[in-house]
Amino acid sequence: MKVPFIDLKRYESGFLETLNATLAAMAANAQFIGGPEIPRLESRLSHFAGVSHAVTCANGTDALQLALRALDVGRGDTVLVPDVTFWATLEAVVNVGANPVTVDADIADGGVAFDALADGIVRFGPKAVIIAHLYGWGSSRLDDIRALCVEKKVALLEDGAQCFGAEYRGKPAYTGALISTTSFYPAKVLGGAGDGGAVFTDDAELAERVRRLGNHGRTAHYGYGDIGWNSRLDSLQAAFLNLSLDHIGTRIASRRASAALYRERLPSLGIEVMAPPADYTENGYCNVCLIRDPERKAALEAAFRAAGVGFGNIYPGVMSQQPGAQGVSKGHCGGNVGETLCASVLNLPLFSYMTTGEIQRVLDVAASALRK
Ligand SMILES: *Cc1c(COP(=O)(O)O)cnc(C)c1O
Repeated sequence: MKVPFIDLKRYESGFLETLNATLAAMAANAQFIGGPEIPRLESRLSHFAGVSHAVTCANGTDALQLALRALDVGRGDTVLVPDVTFWATLEAVVNVGANPVTVDADIADGGVAFDALADGIVRFGPKAVIIAHLYGWGSSRLDDIRALCVEKKVALLEDGAQCFGAEYRGKPAYTGALISTTSFYPAKVLGGAGDGGAVFTDDAELAERVRRLGNHGRTAHYGYGDIGWNSRLDSLQAAFLNLSLDHIGTRIASRRASAALYRERLPSLGIEVMAPPADYTENGYCNVCLIRDPERKAALEAAFRAAGVGFGNIYPGVMSQQPGAQGVSKGHCGGNVGETLCASVLNLPLFSYMTTGEIQRVLDVAASALRK
């Protein structure tokens, strides 16, 4: 039996029929930009994320850029970014004209190393800090990081592209952030039928700035208060997301169950699995094994390849070592734990409605590879 790394085609029964009817009705009315699906989605998102305001936009990378611009981060400013994250986190900083400085990772939770971050704030005097909640949970020291940034008067932007549905201390991980973002890239927990993103905040003024910047800085139909750009989410996309939100509880429950099964079984094969810190309930976004022995890792990957079992490596390298970061990154805080993390990560298949049989197959292939 082949097992895909990810299968986005496992729709709930009736999903495609409802989608087709919805899209056909919208197309019949040429309802492509604006319209009721957008405010309905934003209201549901803000409720789900436990924040006062959700502003949708074109993608998760734009969400970061809009948030940075709304925080007034621009030319010449320094922004601390995690060394282990998706490239967009660093890219967004450069695209608004600011200078990124990378911060080492904590291998226990995949977030930034707290001491390196604290040291970086003193050494570099950043205008803002970005942290990324990777793998379906967040940093074990999230409250400490938020408090530190408040104390040091540094704006904290939380890249929550991977933590949709994750909870911290019984509340959505986005709750309590100054400003946070998410992505609706199809492979994310709330995936769209294409690109999409959102910015979350409790601050009405920040939300208004984000909304204005993502719509050409518009203050009236032909009046412009800012240089923004077009980062609107389109209406068909919003309709797809609204329909997907109807099923998000079941999807997340399914992901969590698969993640839990992996975490229960993999240690008996001698495989170390990353786990959310104690204060979190994960969303089951992905499975993260840490295989620190390169030979064992290569053996597992070869066995998965031969058996038609998909696997991934999120992420294979740190940001500061990317060719695109050379001459752009203005410094680094802390050590090189991030490199160890990146070299060790092996992700096994995990998506909504994966079957127990599929997980068993993955475990069997892993077991036979490690017996050799
Ligand atoms: C997916 C992702 C993004 C970018 O989102 P897009 O919608 O693809 O632009 C940013 N940060 C992290 C951590 C992500 O996982």
